[in-house]
Amino acid sequence: MEHRPIYLDCHATTPVDRRVLMAMMPFFTEHFGNAASTGHCYGWEAEAAVQQAREILAAAIQATPEEIIFTSGATEANNLAIKGVAEASFNRGRHIITVITEHSAVLDPCRYLQSLGFEVTFLPVQADGLIDLTELEQAFRADTILVSIMAANNEIGVLQPLAEIGKRCREHQVLFHTDAAQAIAKIPLDVETMNIDLMSLTAHKIYGPKGVGALYVRRRHPRVRLAPQLHGGGHERGLRSGTLCTPQIVGFAKAVELGLAEMADESQRLTRLRDRLWQQLQSAGGLYLNGHPTRRLAGNLNISVAGVNGQALHLGLQPVMAVSSGAACTAAKVAPSHVLQALGRSATLAHASIRFGIGRFNTEAEIDRAAEWAMATIQSLRETTGSTGCLKG
Ligand SMILES: *Cc1c(COP(=O)(O)O)cnc(C)c1O
Repeated sequence: MEHRPIYLDCHATTPVDRRVLMAMMPFFTEHFGNAASTGHCYGWEAEAAVQQAREILAAAIQATPEEIIFTSGATEANNLAIKGVAEASFNRGRHIITVITEHSAVLDPCRYLQSLGFEVTFLPVQADGLIDLTELEQAFRADTILVSIMAANNEIGVLQPLAEIGKRCREHQVLFHTDAAQAIAKIPLDVETMNIDLMSLTAHKIYGPKGVGALYVRRRHPRVRLAPQLHGGGHERGLRSGTLCTPQIVGFAKAVELGLAEMADESQRLTRLRDRLWQQLQSAGGLYLNGHPTRRLAGNLNISVAGVNGQALHLGLQPVMAVSSGAACTAAKVAPSHVLQALGRSATLAHASIRFGIGRFNTEAEIDRAAEWAMATIQSLRETTGSTGCLKG
């Protein structure tokens, strides 16, 4: 354990907070009941715990408890939202608007719907990763049924203007779905003021357990019509059958509760650590920041490094820090990140990128150590290749 690298990959996943684990424990053993068992106290205990979790989640986003549908995570929530709306509304229209920098759990359901005859507009982003609201406005059509735009990007941390997007969707009477997997309990979210109709959430990015998430589905003004994607026992108002994972649901709610209580202080602390890291790294020269400098998650720093080979860079960093690269490994091939390419980065620069995801358990000493090692790695790679680090972004 002692010599494991510093964990700086909090956009991929986070450890379970011990306070979350403690809240979950009794629901594995003593209170193990099935929340759908209505005939005895084992079921009632589980149902009460699930109901309490539903209330905590709803309050976190200004929704009502009946509007929270528990899922296995954000991937399932995105699939339910996008395919569920498409299936329920295809008589009204078959056009969907999304953005090229979305997570694959949004892009792939959209591409799947294209194969069924739906039309999808994939909006580009500006050089800072934000969408252009004028382009969104121009993308609406009479047959548009859904807009799906994420709250916070998982690679570059950029925060899309949810309230402005929601306002336009409402004006056009088009449903607005947002993937808030990276945003919940990190930035304020309000489905009322932001006019959000569907919102995907997950626990494991906010120090909760893996394998649980939720979809918020608006019930009033307007009532969202959704076709279930899992059929069975009729759980979750028939929208998501399957026995509820009580311990994970309890942990999810605890994670949200802690995140909200600590949000203001923690986002200040993370911003300070992130800016400290960026400031130290910049002395290496030839670094490019990916994404808007301030409209981004506090714990996110994503940079491209000129004049180094991406693979060599990551091999060099590996012994000291766990970070993500600007490459996505799909099946057999390594492709440069679609998000970084959408910002206009070359494939070479996208490969030579580092995503730092700073989180709750990182310390200033860890940041300093990571910065020092990253700079030494970059410098030694540039010396061996003889590059000046002046490549174009
Ligand atoms: C992690 C993530 C997902 C996938 O969530 P799971 O709960 O792992 O299925 C979807 N969207 C975004 C933006 C994410 O960061």
